[in-house]
Amino acid sequence: MTAALRQISLEEWDRRRHRLREEGLVEPIYGGPLGRHVADGDTRLLKLRFDDSPAALRLWNFLLTEEDRLRAARESGKKLVGAMKDLGTVPVMAYSLDNLVAFYPDGAWWIPCVMELNTGLLQIADSLGIDESFCPVRAMLGAFVTEAHFPLPDLLTCSVGATCDDFSAIAQRLNGLGHPILWWEIPHRRQSEPGEQAVTLPGGFETPRSQVEFVKSELLRVGVALGELAGRPLDDESLARGIAKANRVRDLLDRLRHLAFTAPLCPMPALEMLIAEMLAIHFCSDRDETILVLAELLAEVERRVAAGVGHLSTDAARIFWVNPVADLQVMNLLEESGGRICGTEYLFAHALDPIPTTLGPMEALAQMALADPMVGSSFDRAARIVADIRRFGAEAVIVSRIPGASHCALEGEIIGRIVREECGLPVLEIEVPSITDAAKATLCTRLEALVETVKDRRE
Ligand code: SF4
Repeated sequence: MTAALRQISLEEWDRRRHRLREEGLVEPIYGGPLGRHVADGDTRLLKLRFDDSPAALRLWNFLLTEEDRLRAARESGKKLVGAMKDLGTVPVMAYSLDNLVAFYPDGAWWIPCVMELNTGLLQIADSLGIDESFCPVRAMLGAFVTEAHFPLPDLLTCSVGATCDDFSAIAQRLNGLGHPILWWEIPHRRQSEPGEQAVTLPGGFETPRSQVEFVKSELLRVGVALGELAGRPLDDESLARGIAKANRVRDLLDRLRHLAFTAPLCPMPALEMLIAEMLAIHFCSDRDETILVLAELLAEVERRVAAGVGHLSTDAARIFWVNPVADLQVMNLLEESGGRICGTEYLFAHALDPIPTTLGPMEALAQMALADPMVGSSFDRAARIVADIRRFGAEAVIVSRIPGASHCALEGEIIGRIVREECGLPVLEIEVPSITDAAKATLCTRLEALVETVKDRRE
């Protein structure tokens, strides 16, 4: 069985949008032709292939207008919180106060890709002593220096402790440049010792109760700072409402991922699914709009699955992907090579799990923060990956290494060994820099070889 849908270029999208508008498409305020973002410098879009649904158009426009949204929020009197590193905890707290907007300065990670190295952010990081031995998140330093990609936040938070060396060093350098940071600590998640009370965290990891209590005390400190910034305290009632909204986002994503990864035909390409997942960690600076964007995407996917249409063919190799790609184009390359995404672990699996509502809100958030796959051992992370491989029925795993990332030196080997032992699946490790053009042919050959291996194993 083959698919009826195909991915389209940026140019085709602009023609298609024009037709859709004539047929009555109504867009949100940030809508418009995707091609206009190239004029803002987002030149990588010219090399990508996109899903052709209005839901995908809205998703892309939402993503690419975040900076405008942040500036508009500031102009309307809202305060901006730059939440660094924790991926999914502080933003839930900040959005519980309606005059705060949180975003991840870490998102500058993708600027060298989307703007094809034209911004000079990495050179600025170089000049500040943070060279290519660090991961692409070093682009964040350049973004703070130029102030050309996001407004400087009114409050900057950063989790420390069980944080990668890259981020610790870069955040300390940022602090040294005169940006005050509210540091909060998250300890390395460990097993309970005999006699210690253990807590099973959302997602299934275990940790001693004392670690949960410690993180809770740290988050209470962050909550006080957020309350001072907002001009009113962050109480449990507001936090519970914020958690309910975050859970709405997570529920939509859970249904979207389940359908996208398990339907016989791929109903939504890997690139759009990657962006959709990213919305979970900070809501792209507008939580309510995130819910609408995801709901529309889910409705489109449900329609396609019900109609039996999709991208690729039913025999596409079912791939589980580990780590986000620094170059978005690689998601397209996987599909061009005959693979489709059936499961992901993009470093923030904990931000996709529902936040418990039967616990006190701060206790629930402390547990979520400790459930982060990156604050425990690579063995824990591998166990979660194995569970999700089984859930989605993947046939092979790709671990995409992030250049310079300290955790990538060895984790691929550990994850690969455990996946082979537990699931008997082939594992491919590749490195994906911010721009892969020079390595495109090699990458495609390796992806095609994996796809062939998967198909051979079916016989
Ligand atoms: S090294 Fe990995 S976890 Fe650390 S900032 Fe870079 S991508 Fe994120």
